[in-house]
Amino acid sequence: MKKYILSIDQGTTSSRAILFNKKGEIVCSASKEIKLVYPQEGYVEADALAIWSSVVDVINNVLIKGNAKWEEIDSVGITNQRETTVVWEKKTGKPIYNAIIWQSRQSLSICEKLSKKETIIHNKTGLLINPYFSASKLRFILDHVKGAQERAEKGELLFGTIDTWVIWKLTNGKTHATDTTNASRTMLFNIFDLKWDKDLLKMFNIPSKMLPSVYSSKHDYGKLEYFSKNIHILGVAGDQQASLFGHTCFKPGDCKNTYGTGCFMLMNTGEKPILSRKGLLTTIAWTLEGKTTYALEGSVFIGGAAIQWLRDGIKIIKEAPECDALASKVKDNGGVYFVPAFVGLGTPYWDDDVRGSIFGITRGTSNNHIVLATLQSIAFQSKDVFDVMMDESQIEIKCLQVDGGATNSNVLMQFQSDILQIDITKPCCLESTALGVCYLAGLESGFFKGIDHIKECHSFQKTFTPKMSKKETMKLTNGWKKAIESARAFKL
Ligand code: ADP
Repeated sequence: MKKYILSIDQGTTSSRAILFNKKGEIVCSASKEIKLVYPQEGYVEADALAIWSSVVDVINNVLIKGNAKWEEIDSVGITNQRETTVVWEKKTGKPIYNAIIWQSRQSLSICEKLSKKETIIHNKTGLLINPYFSASKLRFILDHVKGAQERAEKGELLFGTIDTWVIWKLTNGKTHATDTTNASRTMLFNIFDLKWDKDLLKMFNIPSKMLPSVYSSKHDYGKLEYFSKNIHILGVAGDQQASLFGHTCFKPGDCKNTYGTGCFMLMNTGEKPILSRKGLLTTIAWTLEGKTTYALEGSVFIGGAAIQWLRDGIKIIKEAPECDALASKVKDNGGVYFVPAFVGLGTPYWDDDVRGSIFGITRGTSNNHIVLATLQSIAFQSKDVFDVMMDESQIEIKCLQVDGGATNSNVLMQFQSDILQIDITKPCCLESTALGVCYLAGLESGFFKGIDHIKECHSFQKTFTPKMSKKETMKLTNGWKKAIESARAFKL
């Protein structure tokens, strides 16, 4: 009897395997940490073979922990850290360089040389030129490994994002493929005609022979040949898109925000891509039954990381969960605003040079005010992304779905609802990313009978509704705007 879908979530700092049952509930999970290496200032890399072996380990472990049999697994879904780039030998499967992690800035100079092509690139990919995306990372590898360009041109080397690498290994090299969501983050894929773009390949001098085939997010990607099992990989999506699907954001205007170290907000915009002029990225949300759905994406660099700074930096809390009790001791922020721009600001400001600042401190300001201002800063930054999303799409967002570690703070969630003046809902299953590819694989196999079946399975644990008056939210928003302006004006 097929009881489970196996989701593999290959993230930046860990790999996870999760077994989901027919109701979309977690039965068991296993995880393993990934060691990142920093060979030089600004470089972030990881051993691609270590990533692969961690995937094998978590698959074996989740079966043991869950006392599950291979025969009980219906199908497999794969979701992954996006943009991270691997190049390996077709013949041996040996990577020719470490995996370059999405955060890495090592290909900055390649991007700088292409800055004049920004508009062309944006109009084809929906992305902003930045070392974050795969194309310049791939160029970096081909430039830095002796003979790599020539070997790639001969068809001896393969390129892949992490999904492609894991699929290739799981199928013993039978499938070299990716899905449209991951392809849309490479900066080589045309999100309008859904093909690798010849002009972009030329611009980055990437041989097309090394590129994976691109398929829908639910598709038969092959069997688990590595484990000699007749179990098929049927769902694949990049982590943020998988999370959007896992939140059942199926309609235009449906929107989710993940509150982790940083925050990632994605909004379903329907079947037409909307190109942003205010720093949002346009990306493929998923391709299903030949139809592609698009999303707008915005990111906040410092979300939960601001809480980590309270703990590890200025040490005014010992653990993150203390925040709510401390913040609740004060009736309001006392006029204190914190702009946690430790590494510049993301959407919609894209200002690399701005640094963090705290405004409005008086003799009466206490640690509690600082804690509350920190929680509020996460909500304010998310509101900035939210506002440009509504503005540029001209679609009203009626409700926000949330996940991520910082959603444990009820003070933050309530304030987010207040400041946005909409409902915030938190699902029962907070592993939205893994759940997203569980849904995708299960739809393909028939484990789930359709979108309505998934909607029925999807349940919520909590809804936050706005309690603050509009007048009060306007006053607070004005304070935040002044704080942002002042922080941006202060540059040494
Ligand atoms: P990531 O996937 O980026 O590692 P997680 O989703 O695990 O992030 O969330 C971790 C973040 O959530 C941390 O930055 C932490 O400070 C924050 N966090 C966790 N619990 C709380 C809490 N109770 N209140 C506020 N922030 C919290």
